[in-house]
Amino acid sequence: MGRKFRTMSKKKAILLDRDGTLIEDKNYAYKIEDFKLLPGVIEGLQLLQNELLFFIVTNQSGIGRGYYTVEDFHKFNNHLVETLKEQNIEIIKTYFCPHLKEDKCDCRKPKTKFIGEIIKEFDVDIKRSWMIGDHPSDIQFGINGGCNTIFLTTGHGDKHIDDLKSLGIKPTCIYHDFYSAAEKIYEDLQKK
Ligand SMILES: [Mg+2]
Ligand SMILES: [Zn+2]
Repeated sequence: MGRKFRTMSKKKAILLDRDGTLIEDKNYAYKIEDFKLLPGVIEGLQLLQNELLFFIVTNQSGIGRGYYTVEDFHKFNNHLVETLKEQNIEIIKTYFCPHLKEDKCDCRKPKTKFIGEIIKEFDVDIKRSWMIGDHPSDIQFGINGGCNTIFLTTGHGDKHIDDLKSLGIKPTCIYHDFYSAAEKIYEDLQKK
């Protein structure tokens, strides 16, 4: 947490879904050989890194299903965090839910346990923060937690875009690539 901020105002954050948002969603990926960053992610995060804290919030039911272990998850996720670090991008913390939907835990998106923890631990201004994801549950999570939301049509987003309407979930914006989402957030930061 060695980053310097321009002002002493409350910190803003971006809550990032992982699979389908930052990296290709290869359905329960946990092997390094399946790791692939999506286009525009590095450039987009670099654009925003001086102004925002980055967190990953990811549902990992592959753990609950026994497809891979918590250790496998960490190994794979650390590879992502290290890859970003090489580009001078800092992920402050990764929050993951290892449960199945049927477990009815309180950490699986769209449940907001992790937003609560982020607010408490890092004192972020959640109303001026953003959630970016490729699934309706990411958007519902952001809305439930009180942040702005961006739905990406990368990953599973294209497949689920019509679900937004049928579920009555309204993201702040919809974009087709990560960099466009980052530009939108960047513009928004300059405004206020
Ligand atoms: Mg996703
Ligand atoms: Zn959970």
